[in-house]
Amino acid sequence: MNPITIEPGAVLGVLGGGQLGSMFASAAMRLGFRVAVWDPDPDAPAHRLAARSFPKPFSDRKAFDEFASLVAVVTYEWENVPAQLCEQLEQTISVRPSSGILRTIQNRLVQKNFLADGGFPVSRFVALKDPQNLKDALLQLGYPAICKTARSGYDGKGQWRIDESSNLSEIQESVRPSAQGGMEWIVESFVPFDRELSILVARGIDGQSVVYPLVENEHEEGILRTTIVPADVSPSVVKRAAELAHAVIRQMEGVGLFCIELFLLPGEALLINEVAPRPHNSGHYTLDACDPSQFEQQVRAVCGMPLGEPRLLSPAVMVNLIGADAETIKSDPECRALLNLPDTHLHLYGKRTIRPRRKMGHVTFLAEQRRTARDRALEFHRRLLQGARP
Ligand code: AMP
Repeated sequence: MNPITIEPGAVLGVLGGGQLGSMFASAAMRLGFRVAVWDPDPDAPAHRLAARSFPKPFSDRKAFDEFASLVAVVTYEWENVPAQLCEQLEQTISVRPSSGILRTIQNRLVQKNFLADGGFPVSRFVALKDPQNLKDALLQLGYPAICKTARSGYDGKGQWRIDESSNLSEIQESVRPSAQGGMEWIVESFVPFDRELSILVARGIDGQSVVYPLVENEHEEGILRTTIVPADVSPSVVKRAAELAHAVIRQMEGVGLFCIELFLLPGEALLINEVAPRPHNSGHYTLDACDPSQFEQQVRAVCGMPLGEPRLLSPAVMVNLIGADAETIKSDPECRALLNLPDTHLHLYGKRTIRPRRKMGHVTFLAEQRRTARDRALEFHRRLLQGARP
């Protein structure tokens, strides 16, 4: 087994090589580590930063042996990497967060049951094993509701909203094809939230945890578009969100960096939507507006180093660049003018192909006043939407 603290110079293994893996690799390199990236896609951006790159299927035995003999600890950049691979790696190497946590989080039903059993506030939900039984689920929950694949959904994929006026047989037909591989579904009550919030929390091997500021998120077509920090909510909501984050990660016995997604209801109750066992898009603002960033904190946590006490250096608004936005920021003079403003930070992920709904980069606007950052971001967002029109 590994020594408890991983010393600089060691190779850190990351499964998944997207933008989150790249940002983890940059942070690790700044702290004197080297990084081995395993992602089947040879074009995955993090390969470019890797001391050792494994562009091989996750089932490749030779890659497994080499990767396992090289790395001092393993983490992952998203929750859909194979849990079985993490279990096998865990035979000889620490995987942080553990494969057990990954298994719990990968399946929305198991995750929701874990949270509900722990007494955490979540929306009402029922398990659905066969789309044929959708009506029964809706009888229990009422309308509106939302049906989600138990596994593999992200950015709003694999989700169906159901209202009283919905045609149930049509929904059953569109749900059914996702049944391959023994898929199950979860049906949740649709939460009439005022706002969506999230909070990052890191926990070290000594069980100490730290939280980041509460942020406010706005989505477009199920994809995060904007994050505003600090969230404009009452101190009691901030306090309860932090308490929930500490408690959830303690209950999971998690080591690493996590994000808790929350719904704020009218009347200020909070519900947990879901937990991500890794840095989160809504935490990208920390690269420019916080010390330490979520990625540095992830490195510290998985290596057993002391965690940094997160400090917000400036109010910030992050806007995602999705699909063709990557072209609009080059062609639209007003976008370019906004990007030239002081305290504006452009991040591009180096993805070769632009595809609709693909996250291509993000921009973080900082300002002394939250409102100034918000106004700039709103104007920038408006220009992006105009650019998207044919
Ligand atoms: P998820 O993939 O579960 O994070 O869902 C993506 C987005 O769908 C969330 O950020 C919400 O905007 C919305 N959503 C998910 N679950 C619910 C729910 N039970 N009630 C209302 N909106 C939801």
